Amino acid sequence: MNRNPKILSNDLLGLSQPEILAAIYSKIGDIPAYRGKQIYQWLHAKRARSFSEMTQLPADLRSLLDEQFTIGTISLAHRSMSEDGTIKFLFDLSDGFQIESVLIPSEMRDSKGEARRKTLCLSTQVGCPLDCKFCATASMKLKRNLTTSEILQQYFEVERLTGERITNVVYMGMGEPLLNYDNVVRSLRILTDPELDIIGSKRITVSTSGLPEEIRKFAHEKLGVKLALSLHATTDELRSKLMPINRAHPIKDLLEAMDEYYKVTGIPVTYEYILFEGLNDSDADARRLAKIARRLPSKVNVIPFHRIDFTNPVGIGAELHPATDEHFIRFNDLLRAEGVHVMVRSSSGEDIEAACGQLALSKLPHPIAIGI
Ligand code: SF4
Repeated sequence: MNRNPKILSNDLLGLSQPEILAAIYSKIGDIPAYRGKQIYQWLHAKRARSFSEMTQLPADLRSLLDEQFTIGTISLAHRSMSEDGTIKFLFDLSDGFQIESVLIPSEMRDSKGEARRKTLCLSTQVGCPLDCKFCATASMKLKRNLTTSEILQQYFEVERLTGERITNVVYMGMGEPLLNYDNVVRSLRILTDPELDIIGSKRITVSTSGLPEEIRKFAHEKLGVKLALSLHATTDELRSKLMPINRAHPIKDLLEAMDEYYKVTGIPVTYEYILFEGLNDSDADARRLAKIARRLPSKVNVIPFHRIDFTNPVGIGAELHPATDEHFIRFNDLLRAEGVHVMVRSSSGEDIEAACGQLALSKLPHPIAIGI
């Protein structure tokens, strides 16, 4: 199976200006460079969904583009809304696979009662090859990487379908973003292109399970986005059980790569830490985590564990339980007392299996379904 499909040659979404000109040249012929710029703007800044909307272009060029090219390839299959306002979107891909994206409103409200932040959680792969024991996506295994267009279109479709302004983006849905490195970087270049004014780089976080070589490379991309490391354990022994990738890339290597990310970009880093009852929630764990967090300007996102029983986990995955409320509070208090900047991630979307770690295309239709 081809797990790295090339950019569909007839899909112009997600292409840079020179790539748009080259694609058009190969099918239609030479067009002036400024036309390439106009098409790039229409596709990404103005979110055109058809070439007929591109009214700056001559009518004959629009109809040739319409004959030869498409704009994006994904389409909504289903969406579900949680009681807390979180919306999970199921998208069909052109080859029959499906992915999920989640729009999460913050609990903080403005004076009109609107959520201050609307964070979109994007997928980067169909499934995931990394076998993290707490994650529903792992049960799907890897089907393939998403194209740049498929990553970007999640943003554009969610924005269009909801009419909402997306304030933050996290690359934290299905898949390990740094294993689909080129398409993730390409999508970030477009989202953060100042000419397009889509979203500021400081409002984007890429979350990785920890691939030191790719983290180092990513540091030099000059994208200005935040990086989060899914840590979840402070000893290699436990982390290797929870996240088998740790056997290849132990904690020390990851932390050195995170050091480099900060050194090169100057952007504080984030550590993600899911609390599991009796496994990683002791006082000693909190102190080790604090020591790690203090290496660099950073924050720690402490995340409640969301059950993934619907994937029928086996082994250690079947034995994972959320930390008790008492341990959860004590752990966070200890971190704070150790000088760590702690954020507690909410369980938004848990009732529709849209919370952190629960994306797996598992249960459709969902309990609170709203029409397409
Ligand atoms: S947590 Fe992330 S990297 Fe790990 S299996 Fe799930 S999607 Fe893949």
